[in-house]
Amino acid sequence: MTHFQFWDDPYLAELDTTVLSVEGNAVILKETIAYAEAGGQESDLVKINDITALESTLDPEKRFITYILPENHGLQPGTSAHTEIDWIRRYRLMRLHFACELILILMNRHFGKKKEGEELLPEEIDHLGIEKVGAHMSEDKARIDFVLSENIETYFPMLLSEFKKIIDADVPIEKGYLNSEKRQRYWRIEGLATVPCGGTHVKSTSEVGYVNLRRKRANKGVERIYITLENP
Ligand SMILES: [Zn+2]
Repeated sequence: MTHFQFWDDPYLAELDTTVLSVEGNAVILKETIAYAEAGGQESDLVKINDITALESTLDPEKRFITYILPENHGLQPGTSAHTEIDWIRRYRLMRLHFACELILILMNRHFGKKKEGEELLPEEIDHLGIEKVGAHMSEDKARIDFVLSENIETYFPMLLSEFKKIIDADVPIEKGYLNSEKRQRYWRIEGLATVPCGGTHVKSTSEVGYVNLRRKRANKGVERIYITLENP
């Protein structure tokens, strides 16, 4: 099992650790700060002893992450490994990830008619009053798709004004395990929502900053919102 240091401290950009196992070009570390794509958040760019990993994969049971290195990487089990992630990229991913989560919550709150301060339950997050059919966060933008027959731009003024309130309030984001054995994580904002999520999360909402929204009609009956950071 790999210790996922990015959950304990999502702000760590460098870590000295040890190689746990090596199978050809697939390397597993004892501890890691490098996130592997899950829940729509793209993988970090990571260097292990100055060698850039080509690919990062999280195993389905979330016990370890496999990093694929180029040939002749020279790592052996027990080798000490200096790891370093592209912090600028990761921090943008973290902020866009949280922006996406807030937009989802605000859409659910609006369509599910939840009252202000009435907390959403974890099982309500994805499908409360509107169906989310996809989400993805890259370094420069995030997108989130909803089943909706009307133009989603109608909701942009509501979304932007509610979003701004949450950012301006600079509320702390609490994180922890829903189930530590199954490695299920959650984040929570008191009075807003408890959300199961294994991504990396900022400390408080002001870090996300303001966002811009753009609409795209993704498919018939599917509306897409593109989210970009006002100050990337
Ligand atoms: Zn999350």
